[in-house]
Order: sequence, then C-alpha cells, then structure tokens
Amino acid sequence: MLFIANWKMFGDFKSINSTKKVVNLSKTKKYKKIQIIYCPPYTLLDKFLKITKNSNVKIGAQNCHHSEKSGAFTGSINADLIKSIGAKYVIIGHSENRISGDTNRIINLKIKTAIKKKLKIIFCIGETLREKRNNKTNLILNSQIVNGLKGIKKNNNIIFAYEPVWSIGTGIIPKTKNLEKQVASIKKMITKVWKLKKPKIIYGGSVNPKNIDELKKISSINGFLIGGASQNTKNFIDIIKKTIN
Ligand code: PEP
Repeated sequence: MLFIANWKMFGDFKSINSTKKVVNLSKTKKYKKIQIIYCPPYTLLDKFLKITKNSNVKIGAQNCHHSEKSGAFTGSINADLIKSIGAKYVIIGHSENRISGDTNRIINLKIKTAIKKKLKIIFCIGETLREKRNNKTNLILNSQIVNGLKGIKKNNNIIFAYEPVWSIGTGIIPKTKNLEKQVASIKKMITKVWKLKKPKIIYGGSVNPKNIDELKKISSINGFLIGGASQNTKNFIDIIKKTIN
C-alpha cells in the first residue's frame, strides 16, 4: 500500500517536526511493508530528506519543468535538479497544474524527462465535474493516459493516481461502486497502451480519517494520494492505521 502526502503550497520548517512520528511509525514491524512518500514544497525537500534518512519513507517533488537541460527558466525546477537533491519521486499532471497550463503534451514531456533522470512518477489523471456531467469521464481519462504516455516504453516506475477533480479539496468522494468500476476501466486503458500485468493505481481526492474505512474496501486500489489531510500528522497517521488494521 502506498500513502503519498501532497503538501501542496503549505508547510514551514516548524511543521516538519511532527512528521518524525510518521517516520517512527514506518519503522515498526506492522508498517514496514507500506510505502510512505512525502511530497512537500521544494523549499522543504532538503529538510524532509534529512528527517527521513535511514528510514523507508521516500521523498518526492510536486512537479517539474519539462526541460531536460538546465536553462533560463526563472522560478522552475527540472527533474535533474530534483534528482540531484536526492528525491526519488515526482508528481506529474496534478489537476492544479493542468488548470494552470499543463497540457497532455507538456505532461508527456515532463514524464519523459523524469524517466531519463530515473525518478519515479506519480502520474495524475482525473475528470472535471463538467466532464463527468457530460459523460466524458472515460474519454478524458483515456486521452490523458494515451497522450501522457505517448512515445514512452512500458515502465513499472509510474504510479497512476486517479484524482477526480471534483473530489479534490471538496470533501466529496465517489461512491464505492462507481470508484471500483472507474478503477477497472482505467486499468483497461493502461493495459491497452502498455501490457502491464498489474498497473499501480492509487486514489486521490478528499481522503480523510472518516472516509478511509469506506475507501479501503476497494481492493483494486494500491494506495492513496492525500492532500489536505496529510498536512496534519495525526490525520495522516489515522488514515494509515485505519487502512492497515
Ligand atoms: C491532492 O491534492 O492531490 C488531493 C488529493 O487533495 P485533497 O486530499 O485535499 O483532496
């Protein structure tokens, strides 16, 4: 099971201290088999790498620039720089970045550069409420998968994060049956592009300690991408414990 914390544009040096509890939890026998990944803002990557040293907790960035080479891109960070600091993962295609201009083509370039730098990728896909209401969900998801993976060979280092945009930060989650069906469709879409036996699919969107008991029933889900609730260490630990118990 994967538990990925997306801290978005939150967090200062003080807020990291409580995450030591998560690191300690990851070292206990019961939780050794799970994979926890923190994706803090760039400013906290180094601090997180230090705190998680000698543990199984991994660190990732929340985005990267699509240029493989360094260059005149003020304010940007590419896969090469992320790799150089010691992070192992990167989130690509998050809806908050799609909204601010990341097209499927740019996302495809970002995935290619991240693969070249041997970063593991958390590839986000998801439909908006309008697309859902217009019965376009599968069309949109398929286009995000096909175009995002264009020209890329089968790769086991990509985790697919299904994040319906209407669920992110809203407190609303899909009905269990609908989510189960959607995950099965996404698996089919992925295996049409790549003959992966078991693509890793996680769910993201308003996961919290209250709804985790329902979400964990879906055995085809390999974990969760957690935004708001992961910024509170108690809530993040509650989610992990309730999933594994
Ligand atoms: C996210 O940002 O990826 C996310 C799932 O956010 P939240 O859990 O706050 O809905």
